[in-house]
Amino acid sequence: MADFRTHITVSSLLGVGVGAAAVQPFGFPVETAILAAALTAVGGMLPDLDSDSGVPVRELFALAAVMIPLVMIPRLVQMGLSREGVLACLLFGYVLIRYWVRAVFKRLTVHRGMFHSVPAMLVAGLLVYLGYHSDHRPTRLLLGFGVMAGFLSHLVLDELYSVDLRGLRVRLNKFAGSAVKMFSPSMPGTATCYAVLGALLYLTYLDFTRAQVSTEGVGR
Ligand SMILES: [Zn+2]
Repeated sequence: MADFRTHITVSSLLGVGVGAAAVQPFGFPVETAILAAALTAVGGMLPDLDSDSGVPVRELFALAAVMIPLVMIPRLVQMGLSREGVLACLLFGYVLIRYWVRAVFKRLTVHRGMFHSVPAMLVAGLLVYLGYHSDHRPTRLLLGFGVMAGFLSHLVLDELYSVDLRGLRVRLNKFAGSAVKMFSPSMPGTATCYAVLGALLYLTYLDFTRAQVSTEGVGR
């Protein structure tokens, strides 16, 4: 299993790559590219939210508690909330994620269960795509892609590190093949993950069709 430092190093480097590619050849503004790079770096840490103990997990929840509400600001503003309303949401979001979500996570997840899987990666990307409000869809796609790229780097690293390099002998350890997966041995875990993914895919479908209607000038 790759350690925290390896994960953050690799996903940060990947973030630099994603950011650079976003500017050239894709033509995104530098600020957007930096945000995408940061989300890629964070994405590389997300799967280990399922780990029950340790400083990295506490840091991750603290970071998520700050970052997720911040990313939501444009959407909150668009929903017509006042400045005070937005601030209240930020504080509420912080407490909710830092303490409540963490407690729920601790209870429900198994380390390297469904959180280390391909559908979980899609869930993370879709959450960012749907959560981030912008009239510019490519920006939302870029940010969602960044998180997924970081997430995938984590899964691949965990997978690679499940090959133990002891001296010259390469052997698979007991975690082999448990990171880049579609299903876990836990039925409820797998079912929940796919249910969430299904709901998010439906919301994404609605998002796409609604945007199409408005660009055609038929609906709102
Ligand atoms: Zn991991």
